[in-house]
Amino acid sequence: MAKPFPVDHSLTSFWRSEPDPLDNFRSTESLPETSDIVIIGAGYAGASTAYHCLERSRLVSAEQPSIVILEARQTCSGATGRNGGHLKPDVFNRIGNLAKDYGLEAAAEVAAFEMEHVSVIEDLVKKEKIDCDLEVNRVCDIQFDKDQLAKVKAGYDYLVSQGVETVKDVGYTPPELAEAVSGVKGALACFNQRTARLWPYKFILHLLRQVVSAGVNLQTHTPVTQVSEVPDDEGRWTVTTDRGSIRTKWVVFSTNAYTSSIAPEYKDKIIPVRGFCSRIVVPNPPPSPLERSYMLRFNGWHYDYLIPRPDGSIIVGGAKSTFYYQDRDSWYNNTDDSRTVEAAVRYFDNYMQRHFHGWENTGAYTDRVWSGIMGYSTDSLPHVGHVPNKPGQLIVAGFTGHGMPQVFLSTRGIAQLIVEGVSYEQTGLPRLFKTTTERLQSQRNNILPIPVRFADKYVEHDFVVIFIDLVLIKPQVYRHLLFNRLGGDDNQLDRSIIRLGILLLLFDVYLTWARIEKSPSLATTFLSRAPIIVQYLFFLSLNALATLAHHLTIRLLASILAPTPCGYTGSSQHGNATEAPIFSNPSTPILPSFPSQTNNSQTQLSPTPASTLSPPKLTPQGSSNDVSTIASASASDIHHLPPTTPQGSFTPLPPPLRRASTAPAQSIRPLPPPSPASPTAISTALLVSSCAKLFPILLVIWGPDGSGNASNVSGSNNTLLSAGSQTTIIQQTLDGNGLGPAATLTAAHPTASGASSLPGSSSLLESLIRIMPESVPTSYLASFIDLLGPLLSLGATDTHLVLLSNIEALYILLGCGYLRAVALAVAGLAARWTVQRVILGAVGVG
Ligand SMILES: Cc1cc2nc3c(=O)[nH]c(=O)nc-3n(C[C@H](O)[C@H](O)[C@H](O)COP(=O)(O)OP(=O)(O)OC[C@H]3O[C@@H](n4cnc5c(N)ncnc54)[C@H](O)[C@@H]3O)c2cc1C
Repeated sequence: MAKPFPVDHSLTSFWRSEPDPLDNFRSTESLPETSDIVIIGAGYAGASTAYHCLERSRLVSAEQPSIVILEARQTCSGATGRNGGHLKPDVFNRIGNLAKDYGLEAAAEVAAFEMEHVSVIEDLVKKEKIDCDLEVNRVCDIQFDKDQLAKVKAGYDYLVSQGVETVKDVGYTPPELAEAVSGVKGALACFNQRTARLWPYKFILHLLRQVVSAGVNLQTHTPVTQVSEVPDDEGRWTVTTDRGSIRTKWVVFSTNAYTSSIAPEYKDKIIPVRGFCSRIVVPNPPPSPLERSYMLRFNGWHYDYLIPRPDGSIIVGGAKSTFYYQDRDSWYNNTDDSRTVEAAVRYFDNYMQRHFHGWENTGAYTDRVWSGIMGYSTDSLPHVGHVPNKPGQLIVAGFTGHGMPQVFLSTRGIAQLIVEGVSYEQTGLPRLFKTTTERLQSQRNNILPIPVRFADKYVEHDFVVIFIDLVLIKPQVYRHLLFNRLGGDDNQLDRSIIRLGILLLLFDVYLTWARIEKSPSLATTFLSRAPIIVQYLFFLSLNALATLAHHLTIRLLASILAPTPCGYTGSSQHGNATEAPIFSNPSTPILPSFPSQTNNSQTQLSPTPASTLSPPKLTPQGSSNDVSTIASASASDIHHLPPTTPQGSFTPLPPPLRRASTAPAQSIRPLPPPSPASPTAISTALLVSSCAKLFPILLVIWGPDGSGNASNVSGSNNTLLSAGSQTTIIQQTLDGNGLGPAATLTAAHPTASGASSLPGSSSLLESLIRIMPESVPTSYLASFIDLLGPLLSLGATDTHLVLLSNIEALYILLGCGYLRAVALAVAGLAARWTVQRVILGAVGVG
């Protein structure tokens, strides 16, 4: 990508719908030749840097420095003018991860720093009577995903156990109450904490008005094209623009997403990332409108945020699931805030009706959707302080979509560095925010987990659907499980996989025991005389070793046969998505693509009654028709529940209903895995794809003919089975006896002689015989059935199904082609079989 500069004709956000007189302001016709400080960028960071520089110089009675603010477009037209307006300190979510990576003290410092923003901004707004709709309230942080909740809760518990101050304010609502308390359909749990919301543009413009009236020179529509690499003889840096240059003692890069275009050190360290926001208007407000802000977290990467406004409308940001995996170019390294992504626009249709109880008949519709460019830092932490090796150059950027609770006090620190000449450590800025050479040299990129993950419709599917598709060996479900759900980054087996492994092992014990019990040679071995517990332990060890052999063999062979995925050419971290081969998948719905939104005007949607499930239609320039029915249809499945009561106290609701699908209409283009699968991932794949082993348990419930009467398996004598004879059922079915012996079948045929009755369990084959022409000799059919019997037995079928599933899972995980996947799966099975034969042979079982 070319250097990231702000583009022309950005969409107009709701916040910028009432432009201030300073929007296109220039304090002087031409630029001054010199200045003490040049601040590049007139967003939150630029405006508050100027504000604090004046404040600090007043505070320490220093001479007011001359300051020029250079802004490429209109004032506050970057991320600040188009964000969600949510000033939500992160005190437990990301902080838990920071504690893991950098230690508790450093993490707690960030949490306290962010929390301090709420009271500092509140005080300032009160003191200066800033008209910016500030409201300090609480946010309901909803979790929908069990695994993600487990992770977040563990981090939260840890912070609580360590007595971290900021987390004491956080309340937790457990699963049994979450939906009732939050009013959010399908909420699994809910954290609540102090937060604030405001009109960011109005707040920033107030600061700018103040500094401009105090003598700061504001120059809009003046993009900086270059900053000199070395200072001149007077120690001044040259800042070049199309309108001339300024020589300055201090340069502050408050350019967030665009920093690397003029500060090359930050290339690949601060990446422009495009995000989307919408405004939802509510014609018929529900009995209890939203009182607080909300975060809806569907999993670790997909979350939305909702900020209710005093006028009853709601700002909703997010929609990541519509583009994040599907089209990396549409958001990563993307500076184009002059357009939206069609799927993201549709995502907000019927949003409130989909997710909130009591909102079904409100007619809430999307009034406006816009995009904005965030500056994501590759290690997720802002860069604040002196640019390494360039004395006089400072940076305050890279807020990773979370600047509202970070910028104001970061810029106070910048002002202290400039005006008071203190060291970074003396400013009280979080140590993790300091921009350092080490951080600039680090190759870490937290922004792009995407190459190892896949476009995934299963992200929001119920587990039952996932299980059914798993049984049907659908490749996409394996991708979902192996890459998105169970493919932990920590190279450890997921807890649910460990549980599945234990369950499979216990089943193996049961099935092997049932099979071996029949062997005549068993009677001559010590096993037949050993107490039952010894027998059990024997079969347990036997199967544990066989499973170990199975996994180790495949893991070893995979490292030799499939070290890197075939056909994968690699994907540079900063290249575009098209570098990776893309394949379509039959199990993946590909929806028609739609012309992109009109470029140079805001995206405005016309109201449509939400109670009808048809999505809002775009006004003339729009193109949305009925494509959002997937997303919106789910609303009709949800029973209406009593609305929440005012003031945040909620009428208790019935037990949680099935979660409304939040799956938007998606066009999904999966990517292949980029790196060799870890041994843990291989074991996960094998265990997940061995689920079919569990099927024989169905026989115990249904009986082998599916009649619901397990006793039928006993054949012609119709004796009722005791509970204790379930092993026999499994034995018979595994062996194919459940299909009925050929001799019995011949007896069933009208032309056959001998036995006179057909076992109930043979009904399928009985039908087969009935449809056969009478000319076909029954004896041939009987021999054929005899031959096929064992192959079609449930036991054998089950083994084949497991093998097929293993092959599919290995093929998908390793990307090594079917031949190698077959070789690996068969080798694993052979190793399992060999270990079992050797051990059984050693104890004398034939
Ligand atoms: C859609 C969206 C939703 C968001 N929601 C939230 C939220 O709810 N809560 C939250 O905490 N954060 C949110 N953020 C992030 C938040 O808005 C930012 O972290 C914050 O505004 C950063 O402020 P800034 O001043 O550093 O950057 P910006 O506001 O982007 O300001 C940078 C300015 O620099 C100017 N500039 C860049 N290059 C040059 C150049 N070469 N010459 C001159 N000028 C230049 C730009 O034009 C721009 O005006 C959101 C961001 C987006 C895009």
